[in-house]
Amino acid sequence: MSTDCIFCKIVAGQIPSTKVYEDDEFYAFKDIHPAAPIHILLIPKVHIATLVDCTTEAHQAMLGRMMTLAPKIAADNGAPALPEGGHRVVMNVGPAGGQEVYHVHLHILAGARPWRGFAAGE
Ligand code: 5GP
Ligand code: ZN
Repeated sequence: MSTDCIFCKIVAGQIPSTKVYEDDEFYAFKDIHPAAPIHILLIPKVHIATLVDCTTEAHQAMLGRMMTLAPKIAADNGAPALPEGGHRVVMNVGPAGGQEVYHVHLHILAGARPWRGFAAGE
């Protein structure tokens, strides 16, 4: 845990959040400032600042599990199913990538348009 990281504090229960999923490795919660009707953040419990810091085979495996978990969390939270429906997964990386919180997180976005901000890009 990084003591100055808000997402580590959320995982530790030191900052409240609306949890939608948790297991030994991951935690998911509603974004406090949603850019779409469904906007969930999926994070590893371990502190990793950015995708650039994911350099090991363990990180590679973690990212694979994170990516394949996202559709399940999307569906469980009301994202419409394929073939007509779907959702968006986004990871912002670094300042120029729009990252504001330096703990790796996957945005899971779904629901009726319009969406706003980075999520709105078609
Ligand atoms: P980034 O720009 O780093 O990719 O996204 C950070 C996201 O975290 C933003 O969408 C922002 O609304 C969300 N966020 C920041 N602080 C908090 C918080 O304390 N609680 C929750 N639930 N979301 C937060
Ligand atoms: Zn952290």
